[in-house]
Amino acid sequence: MKITLLGTGTSQGIPVIGSTHAVCLSKDPKDKRLRSSVLIEWDNYAYVIDCGPDFRQQMLAANVSNIDGILFTHYHADHTAGLDDIRPFSYKNGNVLFYAKYDVIENLKERFRYIFTTKNKYLGAPTVVLNEIENKPFQVQNMRVIPIEVLHGEVKIFGYRFNNFAYITDAKTISDKEIDKLQNLEVVIVNTLRIEEHPTHFNLQESLDFIKKINPKQAYLTHISYKLGFHAEVSKILPENVFLAYDGLSIEI
Ligand SMILES: [Zn+2]
Ligand SMILES: [Zn+2]
Repeated sequence: MKITLLGTGTSQGIPVIGSTHAVCLSKDPKDKRLRSSVLIEWDNYAYVIDCGPDFRQQMLAANVSNIDGILFTHYHADHTAGLDDIRPFSYKNGNVLFYAKYDVIENLKERFRYIFTTKNKYLGAPTVVLNEIENKPFQVQNMRVIPIEVLHGEVKIFGYRFNNFAYITDAKTISDKEIDKLQNLEVVIVNTLRIEEHPTHFNLQESLDFIKKINPKQAYLTHISYKLGFHAEVSKILPENVFLAYDGLSIEI
């Protein structure tokens, strides 16, 4: 399995438009972060988790010529706003497979009505197949995927486990029952917003505490705000098995 971090930034990305903060002005390419998403490839399959506003740019940067589907963590715009740009894949292969829970599907239908409508659908619109999932394992091709329910403030959202890899973004709290599903991981990718606390996202201390609890071989931090600091500086203060992710990073498991 190959994991590519397509984006590692929080909702506005880094740099934030118009910001004069030193991290937003940094010349280090690792301080430039598109909105958070990952590409997961195994056998001949390619799936992305989330489809934010930078999706088109991310597909071009990673030289992706095919995806089979998208798993959604939640409906916030930084995870869904790129949906129109799946068209090259639906034109080429037909339906793109979506996996999401009920509230996400309802939200997408409202915001992207032209994609889901059956009446007078515009021929140029993407074509998709909706797979509604619940908090129990489901099959994606030959892969058993386990949803991990986490709280994003008050909103229940999903992370996903694929074999010994898990991707969790936008978490603020995770119950012990869900943490039990995250044992024996080779790699976890988990959100870390900044140093100070935030009502709906892990700060650095909270994500390090979470990583300690599940004890994976390696952990990568994503969904990062410029307020976390410079990539090079923050990397120095992390525990041995914890790394700051950056856009374009690939991990083979
Ligand atoms: Zn987000
Ligand atoms: Zn969110």
